Amino acid sequence: MFERPIFIDFDGVIFDTEKRVVQQKEQLPKISWEEFFATLDWFKLLEESKVINDAVDYILEGQEKNKKIAILTKIHTLLEMQAKVNKLRNCNINVPILFVPPHVKKTSIYLPNNGEILIDDSIKNLKDWKEHGGVGIHFDENLNFNSEFQTINVLKKVL
Ligand SMILES: [Mg+2]
Repeated sequence: MFERPIFIDFDGVIFDTEKRVVQQKEQLPKISWEEFFATLDWFKLLEESKVINDAVDYILEGQEKNKKIAILTKIHTLLEMQAKVNKLRNCNINVPILFVPPHVKKTSIYLPNNGEILIDDSIKNLKDWKEHGGVGIHFDENLNFNSEFQTINVLKKVL
């Protein structure tokens, strides 16, 4: 049986970094996002961040079952990249990690033309993934449903 590879977003799906970044930026309204990311301490941010709904445990379970899983995450700096690698590997997650630099779409890093699955909290990313042949699953911690995509709030359902 063909098993669709599953790509999992990092921010807002595995760790609650998305909302923390937004909160921290709100404290600094005068600087640009670019300046903000240039000075953001990702090691500290990831230390403080919480795992969303046991995501790490479910990824480890999927890994154990030899599921085709990869992490597909946007990054703004090399420090963010380093901190994310360390965090995932320290959690014993050893699946491939694909990084998406600024101004590049996830589909430019991996073209999902065999119906690969993307689990992401960003509808924009899911729409682009779908347009390029992939299958999008919307992750929303609070299970706010979206009309276009299946919505989940725990990775258990797919891994
Ligand atoms: Mg995200």
